Amino acid sequence: ILQLYQPLNDFGSYYKSIQKNLVDMEKMLDLMHEPVEVKDPIKPTPLNVEKGEIEFRNVTFAYDERNPILKNVSFRVPSGQTVAIVGPSGGGKSTLLRLLLRFYDIQEGCILIDGIDVKEVKQQELRGQIGVVPQDTVLFNNTIKYNIRYSRIDGTDEEVAAAAVAAKIHEKILGFPDGYDTKVGERGLRLSGGEKQRVAIARTVLKNPQIVLLDEATSALDTSTERHIQKSLQQMTVNRTTLIIAHRLSTIVHADQILVVKAGEIVERGSHDELMQRENGVYFKLWNKQLKERLKVKSKIKRLGRA
Ligand code: ATP
Repeated sequence: ILQLYQPLNDFGSYYKSIQKNLVDMEKMLDLMHEPVEVKDPIKPTPLNVEKGEIEFRNVTFAYDERNPILKNVSFRVPSGQTVAIVGPSGGGKSTLLRLLLRFYDIQEGCILIDGIDVKEVKQQELRGQIGVVPQDTVLFNNTIKYNIRYSRIDGTDEEVAAAAVAAKIHEKILGFPDGYDTKVGERGLRLSGGEKQRVAIARTVLKNPQIVLLDEATSALDTSTERHIQKSLQQMTVNRTTLIIAHRLSTIVHADQILVVKAGEIVERGSHDELMQRENGVYFKLWNKQLKERLKVKSKIKRLGRA
């Protein structure tokens, strides 16, 4: 009976892995491919992002007209600054990033980069100048070199290596069986969550965009890996205009501005210190909730250590 069931079990896990890959694929397509309804303008305005200033001006948006998602959202990210977006799940944080990349057209208002409406620009040109570090990095079944170079296919071997150095994954790669030619992904060397994030950082460094969008991973890595990744991420964002969706508030304490997005509206905005002044504000409550959770985990670790 056991033998009879074996192939079925194998098929079950195979199916699960396909399903998971499809989900990853879907996420990537979500970021890389435009829905058909978004069209390039007939006479596009050239975009050469220099300052990388971002402005959302009275943006109203719905995926489906009956269900408005963003309501009259306005904010500005000055050149080189970091703005963090926080707030409850489903509030519209990812939607803001998707709209900046113009995966959808908005119903009202406008979205400007260096004063140019994203609607007036060729989509390829727009997306070519914005770096994206997603929650989960998709790896292709190909060499680690190919996986890094993917963000700028004309990057030389030296540039790929320099990007890997900046992402602090170069040494690791040199230790792989075939160095930069080692196959990674589902059918090759499996990389850890932290390593995959470093590949994403290397891709962005190689692409060298003036604007970076960062979707912080929700799945927590172990604390020391997390801290190291944070450092690499921070270095990557120096002098680049950065919009970051943050789940752990502790990582965005130093952001120039924090936007609290709830049910499609910016309900609070300011620096960490300013927002902490508003006792009983959304941010203040969220911070204290996460603080309690952190303390709980700490005391649990302590207890386990004593046991
Ligand atoms: P989370 O923190 O859970 O990622 P979020 O704040 O990023 O959430 P969004 O992903 O922007 O939220 O979603 C905002 C709302 O839009 C949600 O109610 C979601 O169900 C809805 N939504 C997202 N994508 C689509 C889509 N493609 N079609 C229709 N509705 C969508």
